[in-house]
Amino acid sequence: MISMIKSNTKRPVLRNCPICERLFADTGFGACQNCYDKMRDYETQINEYVKAHPHCTVKDIAKNTNIPLKFATNMINKGQFVAGGKISYPCSRCGKAITSGLYCSSCMDLVHKATANAKRLEIERRQKEEQERIKKKFEKERTSALNILKILRGK
Ligand SMILES: [Zn+2]
Ligand SMILES: [Zn+2]
Repeated sequence: MISMIKSNTKRPVLRNCPICERLFADTGFGACQNCYDKMRDYETQINEYVKAHPHCTVKDIAKNTNIPLKFATNMINKGQFVAGGKISYPCSRCGKAITSGLYCSSCMDLVHKATANAKRLEIERRQKEEQERIKKKFEKERTSALNILKILRGK
């Protein structure tokens, strides 16, 4: 009897490394091999620092452990170290200290509004295009109808 082997290998996705911005095939690590290796190195250091300073900011970590801010932010961002306390890091948009997600609550609102607004504008643009199309079609038909009338009148 043939047993089915379930494959659970993730299909790699090409994306830019969030730290060094190089293109790499992501198999679930979220960073390129090079940066991932470095992250593993930094992990213990961050862990220890966070244990000792549960309410620190990402800037404190970077300053006191000599880990590049980009690494620290990326690692904290993923929520790897939240268990020990709340660590704050800057909002991706305005830089205000936050403890979860990518944006602070006010930027989150703005981002949502901007997306909704963009969608509304797109719908309006399409409606206008459709109206123009109907108007042109109507005008064309009207002109040809007038031409037929002229021809019928023998002019
Ligand atoms: Zn990288
Ligand atoms: Zn913000």
